[in-house]
Amino acid sequence: MIRNVLSIAGSDPSGGAGIQADLKTFSARGVYGMAVLTALTAQNTRGVSGVHPVPPQFVADQIAAIFADIRVDAVKIGMIANAEIASAVADILARRRDVPVVLDPVMIAKGGAALLAADAVDVLTRRLLPLATVVTPNLPEAAALLHEAEAASRDDMARQANVLASLGPAAVLVKGGHLEGDESPDVLASAGIVTWFEADRLPTKNTHGTGCTLSSAIAAEIAKGLPLPKAIASAKNYLARAVAAAGELSVGSGHGPVQH
Ligand code: PLP
Repeated sequence: MIRNVLSIAGSDPSGGAGIQADLKTFSARGVYGMAVLTALTAQNTRGVSGVHPVPPQFVADQIAAIFADIRVDAVKIGMIANAEIASAVADILARRRDVPVVLDPVMIAKGGAALLAADAVDVLTRRLLPLATVVTPNLPEAAALLHEAEAASRDDMARQANVLASLGPAAVLVKGGHLEGDESPDVLASAGIVTWFEADRLPTKNTHGTGCTLSSAIAAEIAKGLPLPKAIASAKNYLARAVAAAGELSVGSGHGPVQH
């Protein structure tokens, strides 16, 4: 039976990030993809020029329509834009604790545009983090969630992952792509146990939407029943192949997308 996975996220009309990346990932990973929109963005590979959030009640209405009719095997949460949308999403998912949730705490686009209002970080931490099966911050996002400086070493990463895990999610994957050096390690903290995923830094400028792709691939593998560490390893493998395949693309002049 094919599994059903729901993305609750923002739109990237250029097709590289957001729900467009999520749906491509779901198809490539062999699950049925669904998408609740939280915000429209105007953007291309050079950056984000506008953000237009969906009214929070209508985000709730979209999610309710799906849960009223369709079995949901996993949820991925991406851009949630503001505190009111974060609360609306949390209100519904708090009543569906049976569904695994992958939370990608999207905050700032690579070009610097804010994808989450500053006052929404605390709502995200207080209301959405505790509902997550796994949270997938990069180094700037982990630092912002903890109101700390960005991790500069593996020790910092592991400590921040453990502190974030103590705030309620079942697990936290801190992604080390922003670390200095040739390596790009990720660390998973869950129930006091820390697991490292080693990877060499991929020499590419096609990095747009890599976070969206990874969290969606993790959600797809969890929906298929893989335990979390295996789901992460499989998702990282998929992302590396999608980054490698991006060499064939000719899409824009900025940070290009990956190819699914
Ligand atoms: N736009 C949307 C709708 C997103 O969800 C994201 C990231 O999650 C981005 C843009 C940012 O993409 P990136 O920082 O990978 O370029």
